[in-house]
Amino acid sequence: MKVPPKLLSLLKEEEKFFIATHISPEADAIGSSLALSMALESLGKVTLLYDKDPVPRVCHFLPYFEKFTNIIPSFIPSDFVLILLDCNTPTRAGIDDLTFKCSAVIDHHETEEDFGDIKWVIPEAAATGMMIFYLIKELGLNITREMAMSLYAAIAIDTGTFRYANTTAEALRVAAQLVDAGANPAYTSNNLYETWSRERFTLLISALSTLEVKDGVAITSVTREMYEKSGAVPEDTENFSAFSRIMKDIKVSAFFREMGDSSWKVSLRSKGDINVALVASLFNGGGHRNAAGYIVRSDLEPAKKSLLEALDTIQRR
Ligand code: 5GP
Ligand code: MN
Repeated sequence: MKVPPKLLSLLKEEEKFFIATHISPEADAIGSSLALSMALESLGKVTLLYDKDPVPRVCHFLPYFEKFTNIIPSFIPSDFVLILLDCNTPTRAGIDDLTFKCSAVIDHHETEEDFGDIKWVIPEAAATGMMIFYLIKELGLNITREMAMSLYAAIAIDTGTFRYANTTAEALRVAAQLVDAGANPAYTSNNLYETWSRERFTLLISALSTLEVKDGVAITSVTREMYEKSGAVPEDTENFSAFSRIMKDIKVSAFFREMGDSSWKVSLRSKGDINVALVASLFNGGGHRNAAGYIVRSDLEPAKKSLLEALDTIQRR
C-alpha cells in the first residue's frame, strides 16, 4: 500500500493537526486516530483528537483515549490542518461548519465523497488502521507498544477479528507485526467483546426477541423504550446487527435503532455478494460491501418496508 507523497509532505511540513473521525466511533475510528496522533506528536507536532460522540467504553483500554474531546476550542480552525479518518466527509464527523487551513482524508469506505485537498481512500484496505500502520512506517517511525495496541484493535474490529472477507494475508501479516510490537490479541478481544454490562446483555435479549426473517433478510430493532427498560445506552448496540447474520440462510441482517425525532439508525451486514454499501447509499448513507449504515426519518414499519424494496432493487441490478 503506497502512501501518497503529498500526504507525507503535508504531515512533515505542517505543525498543527485536527484529527477528526466519524460519529458513533468504533475501534477503527478511535484506534487509527490515536495511533496517528501519537506518531505526529512524536515528531513534535500538535494534535487535537476530535469526536462528536464519546469514546465507547469498549475502547477505554486503549492508551490515551482520554485525549479525545468533543469540544472545539475557539482558536482552532484557521491554522490547523484537518485530517479526517475512517470517514470521508465533514458531515460524518459532525464538523460541517468548520473551515481549516487545508484538509486530508484517510479512509477505506467504498462510498467516497468529493472532499479533501489530499485524499487517500483505499476501499481494499481492511481497516483505516492498516493505512495508518503504513503511514507511520513511511514517516520513518517505529511502531510503539501503544500505537500497536491501537492499530491492532482497529484491524481486529473491522475484520470481525480476522473472520470477515476483508481478512487478507496482508491484514494478518500487519497484525502479526503489531503483536510483535506489543499488541496482545487475547487482551484486545477480551476488552472489545467480553466486557459487556448486564444492561447491555439485557438489551441484546430484547433486541433479538424482535427478530423477523423474510427471504433471507433478518431484521431486529431497539426502541427508546427498550433502552429505558434495560438501562443500556445507544453505544451498547454496537454490532447488534452482526448477531442475526449468524443464521445459515441469512444473506442480510438489518438492525434498526431508534434515535430522537422519529428517525432510525439502520445497520446492515451481509454475507457474500450483496453489497450493502450500495443499499445504504440509496438512503444517503454508506459503508463497505458487507457492513454499512444509514439514517432514515420515518416510522419503523415503513422504514423496514423501504429497506426490503431497496434490497430488491439492488439484487435485480
Ligand atoms: P455500523 O452499522 O456499525 O454503524 O456501520 C457499519 C459501516 O457503515 C461502518 O464502516 C460505518 O462507518 C458505515 N456507516 C454507518 N452509518 C453510516 C452513515 O450514516 N453514513 C455513512 N457514510 N457511513 C455509515
Ligand atoms: Mn473502518
